[in-house]
Amino acid sequence: MDDITLNTGPDNAIVTPNKKLVLATQNLGKVRELTALLNRYLTPSEHCLIQILTLQEFPNAPDVVEDGETYAENATKKAKVIANYTGYLTLADDAGLEVDALAGAPGIKSKRWASEETLVTKLLRVLEKDTRRTARFVTAIALASPNSEPDVVTGICEGSIAQMSAGESGFGYDVVFVPAGYNKTFSQLGDEVKNRISHRAKALQLVLPLLRKKVEKSMERC
Ligand code: IMP
Repeated sequence: MDDITLNTGPDNAIVTPNKKLVLATQNLGKVRELTALLNRYLTPSEHCLIQILTLQEFPNAPDVVEDGETYAENATKKAKVIANYTGYLTLADDAGLEVDALAGAPGIKSKRWASEETLVTKLLRVLEKDTRRTARFVTAIALASPNSEPDVVTGICEGSIAQMSAGESGFGYDVVFVPAGYNKTFSQLGDEVKNRISHRAKALQLVLPLLRKKVEKSMERC
C-alpha cells in the first residue's frame, strides 16, 4: 500500500513518486483522448499502478516551443522538458495532418497553419477545387523518464478530407478527416471508433510495452 505515501512535487501537487505518468500537452482534446486510450489499453491492474497527471497539476511548467523539424523531435523535446521539470515519467505527443494535394502541408506546421478556430475553414477553402483529397494523420509519441533519453514511436492513419465538416466529437481536423475504409468523419464516427483506428491509438499501442517496462523498473526501486 505504498500508494498512500503522499509527497509534494513541483507546484505543490500531491504526488506519489515512480508510478505517475504526466501527459505533456495543453490540448484538452488530446488529454481526453490519451486518457481514454490508456484506460482502454492498460489492463485493470496496470491501471491501478499508474496515476495519470496532466499539466493542469503543474501550472508553472515551462512552455515548450515546438520548433523541431519532425514530429519525433517535437514530441521528444516536450517529453524531456516536462519529465525533467516534474520528476515523473512523461508522455508527449506531436501530431499533424498531411494533405497530398498540399504537398504534405499543414504537416508539422498543423498547429501554426491557422488558429484552432479557423484550421478547418482554411483547409476546406484551399482544397475547394481539388479532387485529390487523400491525407493522413501522423503522430509521434515520446515517453521519457527524468534525466534520460525518451523512447519515440510513430502512428499513421490514412484517409481523406471531406467536402464539408461534419460531426460533433473529437477536436482539430476530426470534423473533416474520413479514415480509409469509412465514409464518415472521425467526428461522426465518435470516440470509440477513433480510439480503435487512429494514428494516436496505433502509436499508443506501440508505446505500451515501453511504458510497462518503465513502470516495472520504477516498482523495483520503490
Ligand atoms: P500538435 O502540434 O500535436 O498539438 O497538433 C497540431 C494540430 O493538429 C492541433 O492543433 C490539432 O488541431 C491538430 N491535430 C492533432 N491531432 C489531431 C487529431 O487527432 N485529430 C484532429 N486534429 C488533430
